[in-house]
Amino acid sequence: MKRHLSLKLRITLWFTFFLVLITSVFLALVISIYRTYSSEEIKKELVEIVEEEAFLLESDEEYLESLVAGEITEVSFLKEDIKLMVYDEDGDQIAGIFLYDELDDKDYLSSDRPKKIEINGILYYYYDAKVKVRHGTDYYVRGIVRAETSITSIVEEHAAIMLLIPILILAAFCGGYLLAGKLLKPIKKIDDTTEEIRQSGDITKRIEFKDNGDELSGLSAHINNMFDTLQKNFEAEKQFTSSASHELRTPVSVILAQCEYAIENAKSKEEILDSISSIQKQGYKMNHLIEALLMFTRMDQGTEKYPKETVNLSDIVNSSYEDFSIIADKNISIITKINTEVVGKVNKELFSLMINNLIQNAIKYGKESGHVYVELQKNAESVKLEIRDDGLGISDEDIPHIFEVFYRADKSRNSKGLGLGLSLVKRIVEFHGGNIKVESIPEKGSCFTVFI
Ligand code: ADP
Repeated sequence: MKRHLSLKLRITLWFTFFLVLITSVFLALVISIYRTYSSEEIKKELVEIVEEEAFLLESDEEYLESLVAGEITEVSFLKEDIKLMVYDEDGDQIAGIFLYDELDDKDYLSSDRPKKIEINGILYYYYDAKVKVRHGTDYYVRGIVRAETSITSIVEEHAAIMLLIPILILAAFCGGYLLAGKLLKPIKKIDDTTEEIRQSGDITKRIEFKDNGDELSGLSAHINNMFDTLQKNFEAEKQFTSSASHELRTPVSVILAQCEYAIENAKSKEEILDSISSIQKQGYKMNHLIEALLMFTRMDQGTEKYPKETVNLSDIVNSSYEDFSIIADKNISIITKINTEVVGKVNKELFSLMINNLIQNAIKYGKESGHVYVELQKNAESVKLEIRDDGLGISDEDIPHIFEVFYRADKSRNSKGLGLGLSLVKRIVEFHGGNIKVESIPEKGSCFTVFI
């Protein structure tokens, strides 16, 4: 695998690069401004020094004479970068350290202010001042100086500050590197923990982090929440599979036992028929169970298997309750309050199944000569379906569990139930983006309300 630079090094390098860039641009700007202003100062200083030297030569004849005689070749006054030379009237240099051929013009008197000249690609100012000698020839003092302060001299002059710049950049790099490392530490932790989970398959592990409200602790919290959900789903799935196998095992055992009995022990045709009838009952039960399980799976696959269409819900509720009013036992009366022309976008098959399951339960857990109330209303935002009974009711301990798959509140009360009806109802409601609530008082009755 191609190895890239670590994230913290990349971030640090990126910012350091820009820091160097910004500093360089800023420095170049400052130097350029500095040089512009300093050139005026240079010219002023050049004039001052040359005039001073000329005055010195004028006032100290002895000194001038020694220069003219060649006894002294160096000009006494040599200040900073300004180089001085002395010329006679014919333009012959009689003293001074440097000779500049390019400066060999005789037009001394015209240079009453500093002039610019380029020598070997470098700009200089030069200035000439006349040395008036009382008797004899006049002389000229010429001063020459670089027109701009050289970068090296600026650097030398401000060596301390210049040295500080790379030190500060290095400090910024090191500090940035450490800070980036510290800030990115949680990412390393996230990486390690998720990899550990992947390798061990232990979905109960979580990322340990200090919640300081930043983006990375937010990310860690979200990943942990995601694992919570995954773990919950995973456990629910495991529970579901185990319960489903358990529920299927019972009818299969009955079927096998009945078969064995019919083959080996049945003495008469009636006994065989009894066994077959029992097998058929278990077959229906298994069929019911498998159908319900298939429905759960299909609903998980989305609307492809159960397309939704805009239908008249009032008609669906009406036909469901009519079916039940024929088959309802225990002398239970079904009372309806169904708004007409309530339309909604639902899957017809699932919606009917949901109503059927709720009415079926209301009858199943209803009391002798009791009532089942079916209501359908539409308001601005949703459709409300209410199925109420005055039957056995559900205890407070059971209410939180009745929508769980295979949960039966009182197993002895209804051994026929599979505990699938309400979980299917809830899944259907969710499939339609709605919600369901239940209110119940034991021995008084239950009320299931669906909002879609
Ligand atoms: P079952 O096949 O057992 O009826 P359900 O999922 O339909 O499975 O219901 C789960 C449990 O909820 C039932 O066992 C029952 O105890 C309780 N229950 C459901 N509807 C009612 C109701 N209308 N009145 C009282 N108890 C109910």
